[in-house]
Amino acid sequence: MRCPFCGNMDTQVKDSRPAEDHVSIRRRRFCPACGGRFTTYERVQLRDLVVLKSNGRREDFDRSKLERSIRIALQKRPIEQERMDQMISGLIRRLESMGETDIPSKLIGEIVMEALARIDTVAYVRFASVYKNFQAADDFDKFVSELRPNVEPDE
Ligand SMILES: [Zn+2]
Repeated sequence: MRCPFCGNMDTQVKDSRPAEDHVSIRRRRFCPACGGRFTTYERVQLRDLVVLKSNGRREDFDRSKLERSIRIALQKRPIEQERMDQMISGLIRRLESMGETDIPSKLIGEIVMEALARIDTVAYVRFASVYKNFQAADDFDKFVSELRPNVEPDE
């Protein structure tokens, strides 16, 4: 694994253990070249997913973008980290076991909304209001950037 700080290819694993969701392994890594420390996660991937956009374009599914949008929607909500991780893993597992490698972007949004609705109404409304305004919800980057957390200074 290449060091994210200096680009050195020869980094060492210091520690490996199951992450809290028990579907991934967390590895602490160390770079002997620059002394940098970083963490990687290894998880089972049942298949490579491709997102099918409504304009017909295909794009590799990016788990981290999906996670980010869900975490933003759940920000400051009384949902434990572990539960959130579980939900995200469950979502991905559902997508992976659908029997299709191409998943319409719309379907992903619907599955996320359904899952959020089950655990937190406020998060669901946050996600859904942005999602529904965002026609076709095609460009997930743009979508995530519109789903900004509200900064509430007096909190
Ligand atoms: Zn380094």
